[in-house]
Amino acid sequence: MDDFIKQCQTALIEKGFEPGPVDGICGPQTRQAIIAFQTRSGLEADGMVGPLTMKVLFGNELPIEIFDQGQLSPHFKREEFRCCCQGRYCTGFPAEMNQLLIAKLENIRCQLDSAIIVTSGVRCVIRNREVGGIENSRHLSGGAVDCYAPGFSVYQLKQAAENQGLCVILYEEQGFCHLQL
Ligand SMILES: [Zn+2]
Repeated sequence: MDDFIKQCQTALIEKGFEPGPVDGICGPQTRQAIIAFQTRSGLEADGMVGPLTMKVLFGNELPIEIFDQGQLSPHFKREEFRCCCQGRYCTGFPAEMNQLLIAKLENIRCQLDSAIIVTSGVRCVIRNREVGGIENSRHLSGGAVDCYAPGFSVYQLKQAAENQGLCVILYEEQGFCHLQL
């Protein structure tokens, strides 16, 4: 069950679309309704509720709790991207996460309908060196994320990320993907 999907389903019904029951599951019927809504609204009909679709769908009634402090997208909190040096070398955010990357990550999350676990977001220079990151790693500027999707293989995650136009480095043995713009 997913409260955000429920809110989308309710909003779609109010606008005369047919996403099926308000069950919080983003199944084929809900996806079809999102596509129909996007088509009618002149949005890119990708069947996913990204930031733009969300704006048009909810208008002034944007679900407030989704945008409370520290929420970067419906499913991702800023905290999830904090530098993993745990305060040893920086205050956690030497850079902010790139918004386009977050939007694409949100789309992947909705496409897979699975949680995405972030193992590394922003990194400070010292931490980046410590974990063996390359010198000009995109992690330093918030333009990269390491993550995995429980229940999905790294190959499935890679495919979903590539569908969003992201560059992917596969860490098969470690079981995660490095995604960047
Ligand atoms: Zn740090």
